[in-house]
Amino acid sequence: MKPTSPRAARRLAKKQAKSGALTLADLLQRVERSRIKGVSGTLETRAKRILASYLQTAQTYGLPVKQVVDEMASGQAAWRLGHAVRDEMLKTPPDAVRKAACKEGCAFCCILSGGEGGVITGFEAAQLHAALSPLAGQPDGRDWHPQACPALDPESRACRAYEARPMICRSFLSTDAAACEANANGGTEQGAGLLGSHLDYLAVHALCRRVLKGITAVQTYSLAAIAREATEGAEAETALNAARHGPAVLEGACRDAMAASAS
Ligand code: SF4
Ligand code: SF4
Repeated sequence: MKPTSPRAARRLAKKQAKSGALTLADLLQRVERSRIKGVSGTLETRAKRILASYLQTAQTYGLPVKQVVDEMASGQAAWRLGHAVRDEMLKTPPDAVRKAACKEGCAFCCILSGGEGGVITGFEAAQLHAALSPLAGQPDGRDWHPQACPALDPESRACRAYEARPMICRSFLSTDAAACEANANGGTEQGAGLLGSHLDYLAVHALCRRVLKGITAVQTYSLAAIAREATEGAEAETALNAARHGPAVLEGACRDAMAASAS
């Protein structure tokens, strides 16, 4: 029987998920019906197309629905899909990429002046924690600059969690390192920004949250807080609890990224 209201649909989905009756076709229907609060229609349509193609591929390969739900909830789905969009975009690199001034040791963008460091998923938070916790107690980025990301090496200013760095670190670039230095000290210089693919990445994760509403929670975390907790020796669960965002932060990040890409 078709549910008569969104609340009834959520109750039904929760029951289906518990009993193992939830299918990938159900998730596809939920993608069609879901809305991402506060993002443009174009971005929402793109996120729906990307997530629907992921679910169709999962159907083709017969992936278990539990695995798919877990990947969507942790952010692993958004991670893979964000990379696919990014790789496609980099086949014809835009000016911002071709003229980027970024290089190892140029770490003004790792000074997290806002304190937050950016929105990361549970998948990214777990990877970052695993990479940094063996380095607990060693000198870290804050020995170079009080607001630097603790993942940074204070001498070489290279990221000590390079392979595990989150998407936001992979998406940020600039054509002007001097502008980055000025901005790290409170300036408002032009030249730096996020790749457009980051917007799709955030929107897909926000869409996963809407699609899984009533089935399972989709969380986000503060990059700076996870790095700090890990380098101060906190266990993964403690670090995740300390760094977990409230529910409005992800949609807020989507809106900020949209505004930045439009400016
Ligand atoms: S974004 Fe700016 S500070 Fe970061 S590596 Fe590129 S030029 Fe350097
Ligand atoms: S995780 Fe690495 S790349 Fe990202 S802000 Fe921290 S030091 Fe910089």
